Amino acid sequence: MKTAALHTPPEKRIIIALDGPAGSGKSTTARRVAEALHYIYIDTGAMYRAITLAALREERSLTNSDLMPIVKEYRLELTTTPDGQRTILGREDVTNEIRSPEVTKLVSAVSALPSVREAMTKRQREMGQNGGVVMDGRDIGTVVFPEAELKVFLIASLEERAKRRLAELTGTDGGSHAITLEEMCHQIHERDKQDTERLVSPLRKAADAVEIDTSQLSIDQQTEQIITLAQARIGSNR
Ligand code: C5P
Repeated sequence: MKTAALHTPPEKRIIIALDGPAGSGKSTTARRVAEALHYIYIDTGAMYRAITLAALREERSLTNSDLMPIVKEYRLELTTTPDGQRTILGREDVTNEIRSPEVTKLVSAVSALPSVREAMTKRQREMGQNGGVVMDGRDIGTVVFPEAELKVFLIASLEERAKRRLAELTGTDGGSHAITLEEMCHQIHERDKQDTERLVSPLRKAADAVEIDTSQLSIDQQTEQIITLAQARIGSNR
């Protein structure tokens, strides 16, 4: 009936925080969940990667004082296109370049710097403040949006995560990165260690996050589980 429909409160657009270590399936899952709910997807790792790329190009040393001008002066934008999120640094689309092995190797050192974290956290809060977002990263549920209505922490075995990253690399450029599974396990382990042991906003599960082990799950299954959790939260937040 018309009157009843008029009195239905609008659906609450919640914040979904998706954290976890490298290769746990965050970005693909977050993108799919966002599509299904018509939410915005924000890959916060891309922001730290873009700052790292700028630092590499300008041959800066990785210190708070050397990176502060980069953080302040560079325009950093994430845009959503039908092909996924694009990362724009200054006027340049750096979406592919930020995935290079050089950037991946240094990004954890850059993201451990308090000045960088402070600036990125501020921007991420601005981007998500109106809700209707799925944000993936390492500290979204603990630091960026500790009040997020849904927090998910994805985990998977080291070997499974390394296999996924290798498959991604092979898929993007025909496998020109000659790297063995063992080397990839080592690289991911090192990055996990740096991200978990840093002093500012270390990677950890928020006390109220739902943990999902994706080792044996398909992307469809992970996406389904998170959408079900989100719908329950949306329903109870009307
Ligand atoms: O998600 P991705 O692997 O692209 O993230 C790259 C790096 O950026 C992580 O290893 C971590 O050092 C950093 N990061 C972070 N906090 C976030 C997102 C990413 O410190 N919220």
